[in-house]
Amino acid sequence: MTRMEQLQGRLRAEPRRWLVTGAAGFIGSHLVETLLRWDQPVRGLDNFATGKRANLNQVQQAVASDQWARFEFIEGDIRDPQVCQRACHDVEIVLHQAALGSVPRSLADPLLSHEVNVNGTLNIFHAARIARVARVIYASSSAVYGDHPELPKVEGNIGQPLSPYAATKRINEIYAGIMQRCYGLQTIGLRYFNVFGPRQDPEGPYAAVIPRWIARLARGQSVEIYGDGLTSRDFSPVVNVVWANLLAATAATVAAAPAVYNIAVGQRTTLNELHDLLIACLRRSRPGLTLPPPIYKDFREGDIRHSLADISAARRDLGYEPLETVAEGLSRSMAWYLSHLDLPAEI
Ligand code: NAD
Repeated sequence: MTRMEQLQGRLRAEPRRWLVTGAAGFIGSHLVETLLRWDQPVRGLDNFATGKRANLNQVQQAVASDQWARFEFIEGDIRDPQVCQRACHDVEIVLHQAALGSVPRSLADPLLSHEVNVNGTLNIFHAARIARVARVIYASSSAVYGDHPELPKVEGNIGQPLSPYAATKRINEIYAGIMQRCYGLQTIGLRYFNVFGPRQDPEGPYAAVIPRWIARLARGQSVEIYGDGLTSRDFSPVVNVVWANLLAATAATVAAAPAVYNIAVGQRTTLNELHDLLIACLRRSRPGLTLPPPIYKDFREGDIRHSLADISAARRDLGYEPLETVAEGLSRSMAWYLSHLDLPAEI
């Protein structure tokens, strides 16, 4: 029996009551889907700032009707303390994903990023404490490493944040530590490294690189590479992040504050390599498609040059192992985008 089958069996036998914030978003909707598939009662909270009703509709289609019946949704804003208290009421585990992502978005509107990511997260921590929630798992980010030059990134060695977004995620970790030390609320922060997969939004100025590139390449358009293409990231398929959340939520013990873990594949891919991998995926499903070369542009403000996770702490404390490689994740994502994007008929 695999580790996942064991955990699934345990949770089916003894379901927990879950709150997923950011439930209509990319990662949140995958968490909701897996929990419902595992017959868990789940409450979702989202204000549709960047999330979509369509994501929840897809979850509904993916699960059985009795599983969907265990889902309750609150449309609301984590900036409102009362909404957070209503959402946390009678919940055992919170998977807190709601936030405004994107470094450029935070540079354009730092006050809004702060209000949502910092005040909103503190509201969730506070509400969880009042509701006597057993554990809060929250989404942190590799952005926390800022200008620290070490590679791979190890949890204890962080530098100065390079953007308002990075600062908000760092402040979340500080508050999580405070909630644990001062109030005994168990918290685990998961520092995600460039997550990708089905349902990640490909549109708009703040779209992440993989969905944005897939959408352009699938339409036969060139992509823009900021810098020389040697910028690298530890890209992580979303299934790995879901798995890490489930492991963190059910781990027997929580390390002393601040309990934070890198969640990634532990493998570095440059933007040039990513471009080649995506083209190879696309050629397999659309052999006739003509693809223009990428356009190289200036480096972007606030971007980290290289990112690679040391995942040994998550391995040691949570039993985490990545379930999917970058290549496997890209090919699954490509298949999903090709069947969900609005593509011109001749393509
Ligand atoms: P997403 O934008 O798809 O999901 C975020 C969700 O939060 C959306 O559904 C949005 O509507 C909701 N939300 C935003 N503001 C809200 C508010 N005020 N009240 C209630 N809901 C609100 O993004 P995602 O990629 O799924 O990110 C989920 C989490 O993971 C975020 O905390 C993000 O910072 C973190 N993270 C993501 C990545 C990544 O590569 N995707 C990397 C590191 C960290």
